[in-house]
Amino acid sequence: MEQTVKRFRKRDAILTCLRQTVVHPSADWVFAQLKPEIPDLSLGTVYRNLALFKEQGLIMSLGTVNGVERFDGNTAPHVHFICTECGKVDDLHTISVPEELKNTAAQSCGGRIDGCQLLFTGICAECANK
Ligand SMILES: [Zn+2]
Ligand SMILES: [Zn+2]
Repeated sequence: MEQTVKRFRKRDAILTCLRQTVVHPSADWVFAQLKPEIPDLSLGTVYRNLALFKEQGLIMSLGTVNGVERFDGNTAPHVHFICTECGKVDDLHTISVPEELKNTAAQSCGGRIDGCQLLFTGICAECANK
């Protein structure tokens, strides 16, 4: 019984952590945030839960940035910017994927388009000013 409670507590903590941050974290980041709070948490548990959440559509993966997979707790369609220098991932809320682009994609694939991940890469303002 106690084991089950603990497992659910970890699961919830990981999901909540992801949904409350805008840094688009890696598994390591989530682990570092939660470890002081949940001393018996392992990195493997974080990885397993993230993979599960991704499968269930609760979070999404942005792919790898500098070799590390990054996650987003916000599954609503939005556009991203990734700094290739410092690895920072930002949401670009003022841009949306143009309908026209979706229509063109649908024509091109011959099927139906359900989603689109638009992702810009470049150098962030902070890195550019260094
Ligand atoms: Zn940067
Ligand atoms: Zn995002």
